[in-house]
Amino acid sequence: MTLFNDSFLESLRAQIPTHIQVISEGHAAYEDVCATWNIRSQCRPIAVVQPNTTNEVCTVIRVVNNLGVRQVAVRGGGHSFEGLSLGGQDGAIVIDMVKMKMVSSLPTKYELTAQGGALLSDIHLHAFENGKKMVPLGTCPSVGVGGHVQCGGYGFHSRTYGPLVDRAIAFEVVTADGEVVVANDSQNTDLFYALRGSGMGSFGVITSVTLQTNDVPNTITNFSIVWDLKVSDLPQILTKAQSACLDAPLFYNPMIIAWAGKFEIFGTILAPCEATRDASWKRFLSFLPRPSFIKMQPMDYLESVLDISKNQTSAPWYDDLKTIGREKREHFRFMKIKSGFIREPLDDESIQAIGNFLATQPSTGVRVQLLALDASDDGMPDTSVRARRCTWLMGMSAYITKRDHTEDELIPEGKCRLLWLNQAYDLFRPLSVGAYLGDDDLDEGNNFASLMESFYGHHFPGLKRVKGKYDPRNLFNHPLSIPLPTVD
Ligand SMILES: Cc1cc2nc3c(=O)[nH]c(=O)nc-3n(C[C@H](O)[C@H](O)[C@H](O)COP(=O)(O)OP(=O)(O)OC[C@H]3O[C@@H](n4cnc5c(N)ncnc54)[C@H](O)[C@@H]3O)c2cc1C
Repeated sequence: MTLFNDSFLESLRAQIPTHIQVISEGHAAYEDVCATWNIRSQCRPIAVVQPNTTNEVCTVIRVVNNLGVRQVAVRGGGHSFEGLSLGGQDGAIVIDMVKMKMVSSLPTKYELTAQGGALLSDIHLHAFENGKKMVPLGTCPSVGVGGHVQCGGYGFHSRTYGPLVDRAIAFEVVTADGEVVVANDSQNTDLFYALRGSGMGSFGVITSVTLQTNDVPNTITNFSIVWDLKVSDLPQILTKAQSACLDAPLFYNPMIIAWAGKFEIFGTILAPCEATRDASWKRFLSFLPRPSFIKMQPMDYLESVLDISKNQTSAPWYDDLKTIGREKREHFRFMKIKSGFIREPLDDESIQAIGNFLATQPSTGVRVQLLALDASDDGMPDTSVRARRCTWLMGMSAYITKRDHTEDELIPEGKCRLLWLNQAYDLFRPLSVGAYLGDDDLDEGNNFASLMESFYGHHFPGLKRVKGKYDPRNLFNHPLSIPLPTVD
């Protein structure tokens, strides 16, 4: 049976209750619901189904099983770089969580529950507006919690508070047989382990996740310190920048960045009080050579989130967290990413080579960043996070936007930047102990023993066993999903 035929779609529509939206090619909304922000990850699903409730997700899964569907992809915020939430290829059935975005909490508890389609902006707003609380999250507020919590979730709060994944207390999941299960530290603990670090749509549909919150800190200060990328002695600045970042107290969340002709340290200071912040800031600056620009600005929590989003993402378009929705073609761009967890501080030889190469960076369309982590972090036991106790999370991207180029130019310009990016990555690769799943890059398999080894490492055998238990027919699959265990 070819799954694209009309009779299949007729059967799908006939078996799915009419109040659940089913959108296929020819429907007025089809292009809109398949649209992504990345020209590299365009896929044509057979149908996009938009359930409103957990029970409706169960109904959809049972129907697709009845019809013998071979690939279901789950879409949250739609940020996968390789289009994995549309299946990573044409022909998937997509369960689109866009109508399940509620966030709720009880005033007495340091917890919130987000539905599987909520965006990070929804969580920031709910937590802050209900008791001035927060959850450590990544930089881009249009990312979805469904993908973010499964891969790790690192940003300008994680050196202080740990990655988002360690805040997950419980998941409600619809599995491949259409049953609802809870995964937490006492029920379905194997699934709980697998979802926390290596989920990425391999094990079922997350209909909600409960996250631990904390009080927003007393002072929040964003800072930016800038040098010119071209004229400065970069290895020397990189050496000093690394020393400043690694010496800083854990309430510092600094990132070293090379992009747009600048070498920058951007960060957030989540200090207990102003006096402590000011003393630590003086010490931080004492490590560094004289910059060309410096900003250190106290702000409230939501201002800080917006400031990060505007200044440190390739998606600097939001003025108001309340108006953020899933990014579609309005922010169309070319984007390819590479990443690596780096356990030790960069040694002198690496700094020399990396610093010299960064000085050759094209002035537009590439970015290299090193996010400082808490290297003493042992994390929660029994999570499937790829690497712990790392000093840096390195991420590097080639990105070309429609602000600066025509649509026809996106791919050629992007490929041109990729040449530089790949050479830069060659310098980081020997230092990496594995790639970050949130930065999905299918070329990563060319570098390590295998794609799976790079993204899942020593967890891979255990993850395959969990896959076999909860999705024995491999319904939830895409090019980077966990495969079934092989039968000996
Ligand atoms: C511009 C940009 C900025 C980013 N910044 C950061 C950052 O600062 N820190 C960081 O850690 N990461 C960052 N990321 C990476 C991001 O965290 C991951 O790409 C994440 O997986 C995206 O989740 P999503 O729901 O938006 O994406 P989607 O494309 O919808 O989903 C990604 C994966 O998760 C699965 N998935 C999504 N929702 C569900 C669900 N409800 N149930 C089951 N599976 C689901 C999908 O099937 C897919 O495999 C960024 C990505 C982009 C594009």
